[in-house]
Amino acid sequence: MGLDRELFEGEVAEEFLCGICHQVLLNPVTAGCFHMFCQACVIRKMKSRVTKPVCPVCSAALSLYMTDTPIEFKLKLLNLSTQCSHNCGDAFVLAELPDHMDVCPNAPVQCHFTAQGCPRKVKRCDLRKHLHECDFREVECEACGFRTLYRELFTHQSRVRCLEKKLKQQIIRERKASSREIIRHREKLVKEHAKFDQQQRKRILSHAKSQASRKSERQTTAGSEFGDSEFDFATTQDSVFLTEDVINRHNQQRHHSEEAKRMEVSRQVRARNAVVR
Ligand SMILES: [Zn+2]
Ligand SMILES: [Zn+2]
Ligand SMILES: [Zn+2]
Ligand SMILES: [Zn+2]
Ligand SMILES: [Zn+2]
Repeated sequence: MGLDRELFEGEVAEEFLCGICHQVLLNPVTAGCFHMFCQACVIRKMKSRVTKPVCPVCSAALSLYMTDTPIEFKLKLLNLSTQCSHNCGDAFVLAELPDHMDVCPNAPVQCHFTAQGCPRKVKRCDLRKHLHECDFREVECEACGFRTLYRELFTHQSRVRCLEKKLKQQIIRERKASSREIIRHREKLVKEHAKFDQQQRKRILSHAKSQASRKSERQTTAGSEFGDSEFDFATTQDSVFLTEDVINRHNQQRHHSEEAKRMEVSRQVRARNAVVR
């Protein structure tokens, strides 16, 4: 079969057309009657006919003996302008066709993994993409590093169970890491609590001290023996610290001051009695 005459510029002259396929001559040979045909067309015709083959143009007998086409004719043929048959939009003279096929982005090329079994032919511009996703490319198992064809990776992983083992190990590692994290967090909380308690105690202590000194100040300035310490406490700014602990301390303090008052009263009574005696 010759070259598609539709791809050639303008109307192709009759002399360049094959007498058998009626397309532009490809590798032309000349019969004894001087009519020209594509080499492949003649061979096909000779093989298919049981009876003696004849020239489809002049009906002269065809023999296997064909003469080569004159070089001048071949040069004229190779100078015909044509477009690329792969729709890349490129145009050139026929002589440049082989070179163009080596670079045409739409020309079909064989996958590089033919030896591994890939039967695919893809457009040259799609080859790189295909090589990255070809089932016959060599890959490394992500679980154990074993090298195999991509199409056999799943079989390998389900047979050796390497991926399963790796995932299990990963889960165990993650669990250990997260329980370590929980322990660290708990320890941090315990430390923070202890620090907070210590600060709380310090504030309560200093509050109690300031209360005590204020009370003794009042007692000395007013000369009163009966300071109302019960209400002093609730009116201080630190009333926010009225925790159970503080209340207990407060009550203790009150108890102590009442005890002191009682003792003072009995001292005075004893002193009066002494005077009376
Ligand atoms: Zn032909
Ligand atoms: Zn003929
Ligand atoms: Zn092209
Ligand atoms: Zn492939
Ligand atoms: Zn593996």
